[in-house]
Formats: sequence, C-alpha cells, structure tokens
Amino acid sequence: MRYISTRGQAPALDFERAMMTGLASDGGLYVPEVVPVMAPAEIAALAGLPFEEAAFRVMRPFVGDSFAPEEFRRLIGAAYAGFGHAARVPLVQLGPNHFLLELFHGPTLAFKDVAMQLIGQLFQASLARSGGRITIVGATSGDTGSAAIEAFRGLKGVDVFILYPHGRVSEVQRRQMTTPSEANVHALAMDGDFDDCQAALKAMFADRGFAEGVALAGVNSINWARVLAQVVYYFTAAVSLGAPHRAVSFTVPTGNFGDIYAGLIARRMGLPIDRLVIATNRNDILHRTLLTGEHRKEGVTPSISPSMDIQVSSNFERALFDAYGRDAHAVTQDMASLRAEGGFTVGQGAIEQLREWFASGRASEEETAAAIARTLATTGELVCPHTAVGIHVAEPHLGEVPMVTLATAHPAKFPDAVEAATGIRPPLPPRMADLYDRPERVTRVPNDLDALQTLIRERIRP
Ligand SMILES: *Cc1c(COP(=O)(O)O)cnc(C)c1O
Repeated sequence: MRYISTRGQAPALDFERAMMTGLASDGGLYVPEVVPVMAPAEIAALAGLPFEEAAFRVMRPFVGDSFAPEEFRRLIGAAYAGFGHAARVPLVQLGPNHFLLELFHGPTLAFKDVAMQLIGQLFQASLARSGGRITIVGATSGDTGSAAIEAFRGLKGVDVFILYPHGRVSEVQRRQMTTPSEANVHALAMDGDFDDCQAALKAMFADRGFAEGVALAGVNSINWARVLAQVVYYFTAAVSLGAPHRAVSFTVPTGNFGDIYAGLIARRMGLPIDRLVIATNRNDILHRTLLTGEHRKEGVTPSISPSMDIQVSSNFERALFDAYGRDAHAVTQDMASLRAEGGFTVGQGAIEQLREWFASGRASEEETAAAIARTLATTGELVCPHTAVGIHVAEPHLGEVPMVTLATAHPAKFPDAVEAATGIRPPLPPRMADLYDRPERVTRVPNDLDALQTLIRERIRP
C-alpha cells in the first residue's frame, strides 16, 4: 500500500513513512494510491465483534507491511484499553431512526482520542524499532492538543509542542493541555486565532532545515493515520444498524474535514452510506462552498462550538483531489489561490462531484443552544455544542434511512454552553474530577515564526 501527495510533487511513501511524515514535502496531504474495497460478506462479518477486532479488519489493508498483523492487533488493543466504555464507541438512540454515536469515552472526552490514542501506540512502536527521536508540533482549536498530549505524555524519544489560540479554548480544554507534568509536554498559548496557529505549523513544516533539524512530525488531523482510525467507527455503527444489508446516513460536526473525509473513505471501501452531511457552525465555509462553488475565507467568528471555529479546512484538500479525478495540478492551483487571494472557485465538474458526495447545513448559535435544550427535553441526554450543531443539521434529513449523528465531545468539556442552554452544569466523569485543582504550566508565545522555532530548538531534549 502506497500513499501519494495531493500536490503530486512528493515521493510516494508506505504507511509508516506517511504517518511519521504528516504533511507531504510539497505541502500536500497523503492519500492511499488505491482504496481497498471490503466485500459485503466481510462487512457483514464485523457484526457483533469487539471494537478492536473490527478496527483491525477495517484498517489492516491500509497498513501493508508497516506493522505485522499480531503487532498491529496488540497496538490497537493498547490504544483503546483506557476508554471508559466497554463498547468504546457506543450508539444511543435519540428518536425514530436517529442515533448518536458517542465518540467521547477516551481520556480527553472528545472524538480525537479515537485516532490519537492509536497514533501514540504506532509512533512509539515505530520509534522503538528505529531508535530515533522526534518533535511533535500540533496546532489545535482545543481538542487535538489535549488528545495529542494524552497520547504522547511521557513517551521516550518524543517532545510534544501544542500551539493553541490564547483565550479561545474552553477552560477544560486548556487545563487538559496545561496540567500534564511530564517534561516532554509543552503547551504554547499563541496570540491569534486557530488559523494563525495552523499557518505557523505549516510554515514550520515548509522550512526543511528546521523540520529536519528537530525531526518534526505532525499529528494534526491531516495525518493519514488519524483519518484511517476514524474510518472504523463508520463501519461499526453502520453494521449495528443493519449494513451492508441496508444503507445508513451520517451527520458529522465538521471543522478540519478529517472526520467526514473518513466517512467518504468508508463509503469508497464499500460501506453503503446514503447521505454524508457536513454540519458547520456559523463558521460555515464548507457549507457555503457546497452552496455556491466558491471556497472563500472570511474571518473566524468565535462560537460556542470552538473546535469547529475554522475557515481553512485542511482535509478538504483530500476531497478536492478526489473530486478533480486526482488532478494534483488543479489542487495545487486552487491552494495557491487560497493562499494568495483567500479563496478559489471549485471547478465545475468537481463541485458537482462534491454535491453528489456530501449534503451540508449550518447551525447558528441560537439554533445550537436550542438543539441542546430540545435534546435534553425529548431524550434526557445532555449533548455538547458540537454534537448539537450535528443534531440541528441532521433533523431535516431524518426519514426512512437510519441517521447517525456523531457525538464528538462529552458535554462536560463545554460546561458553560451546556449550562446556558439547559440550566444544568454537566459534571466531569470521576476519573477527571480534580482537573480544576491541578497546577497549570503554559508558555505565552507571539505569532512569530522565528520566535517559535527558537523556543522549540531550545526546549527539545538531546
Ligand atoms: C475536532 C472536532 C471537531 C471537528 O472535527 P474535524 O475532523 O476537524 O472536522 C468537531 N467536534 C469536536 C468536539 C472536535 O474536537
């Protein structure tokens, strides 16, 4: 199994190298050269399996020779052992033909743990083999950072630097990043918004001298291994609801497009997914793109669903590459326009293809709060604001095909928004109850590439 770049100018890599590299050297994203297909009988056979075994069967063809089958099985087992639910990603019914897929039972209470816990295990195994060390730098709008820190804290041969926009993450998110005491964990609060953090990260990767000097590795949502880990729960959820014998739809609260792109891969592997619905908050570049064909940045407006406060949606490039029939030149041109002019017009054939693959919708702040309150009133479930955006957008699509809305975070991760909507302050699960008492450790940094690179060089351990 080989991975190629969406910009066509970087070397093709195997799974392990693509994972350790993150962003391709030409600025593109790695995608599998060929997406393996699962036969209906193989999909049907996933029914009733433990999550770990289903994960092994779904991901195995993408891994090639990078990890031996027994080693890969063991790493999957270690990744999900710390989840607080035996089903790992349980389904809960909200109403007729509407289900919530709870992806927040990992150590940081958000869906990013599903992928990040596996990445931690895979990186550790790979580094143990090569005897090397790496520097992980991530940019986060909140949840990626804590998930990366949980996955890598205390690991040998790894330093983790996480850039987050100062003052723009929730207190729980911030504390999850600033309270781990391990010396290899570095939380950096940057002046700016998430897109500034992401731009700084991209610039560090583009600076080859720096990237090679510190052995930079990326675990942001552009890392192919993260997308792959997210493909698994589309299968487990759909099979629970009758796939492959009947189709299932999904609504996905979307920011960087990683999670919903995993759904597109699942469909391409043969899973009968009817609708794949992109749900955005008022930062709705993806919804506007599908409506108008214009992919154009506006400023980021802070919302009560901050993990989706994004205008540059990195993984959209992967979908675009496919929609252009894998024309790396067309993607490269669009990305150059995005950088230079803040936007581009999606080619006619490509926009039609995207509209065939995805539906979309947006939820305003009021609609998000109303969905939190309505869900509590009709089901007794408290949901986080990101999940509520999904529920609002899913509702017009409810019908004969079962709809699964992805519940991307635990309500206690965003207690202010949940309390404002319902009057109830959701408590943290017992294993995290002392989070507000632990000491914090954070470095405030300017939006300045030189300063960031100097700080990272000084901090990494020999
Ligand atoms: C990251 C995140 C999202 C968006 O996921 P993408 O893969 O970036 O589209 C949605 N909800 C929560 C809670 C998140 O942490």
